[in-house]
Amino acid sequence: VRAGRFETERTYIMIKPDGVQRGHVGEIISRFEKKGMVLKALKTYQCPKAVAEEHYKDLSSKPFFGDLVNYICSGPVVAMIWEGPGVVKSARLLIGATNPLESAPGTIRGDLAVEVGRNVIHGSDSVESAEREIELWFGDKAGVVDWTPTITPWV
Ligand code: ADP
Ligand code: MG
Repeated sequence: VRAGRFETERTYIMIKPDGVQRGHVGEIISRFEKKGMVLKALKTYQCPKAVAEEHYKDLSSKPFFGDLVNYICSGPVVAMIWEGPGVVKSARLLIGATNPLESAPGTIRGDLAVEVGRNVIHGSDSVESAEREIELWFGDKAGVVDWTPTITPWV
């Protein structure tokens, strides 16, 4: 009856090196699971500079671009694809504002971070960005699964 319910949109979510090193991987994944999103891919990854530069290419003229690339490459990230109805916007709401001092309490950044340059997590800002980022980070399709939950009709 509900077939197709989760074949809606996908978003690219990445726990940044500070989130991994501070031990927040489980906490962050838990928030997406509790919301009702469906995990479609997950990997730890030591990001090469070229991938970080491509990921953030729209910000290449910003004064913090070099620091941002170094930050993303400073340790392993946890790269994920999450799927669900309206998941791109919904994930951004769970994540909170870019500057953690302005992120609402209850959001991931609002609860776990204080610095814009160490804000724990990335989430795609549009369906188009999500498609581009999923291709960039999971272009080889390794670990990407096509599945639909059948035992959680309440989400
Ligand atoms: P978001 O991650 O919320 O989509 P942006 O796309 O504007 O935010 O910026 C990408 C990332 O660049 C931010 O998550 C943050 O890690 C970093 N960043 C943004 N603004 C600054 C800044 N003023 N100083 C340092 N780093 C920044
Ligand atoms: Mg962004």
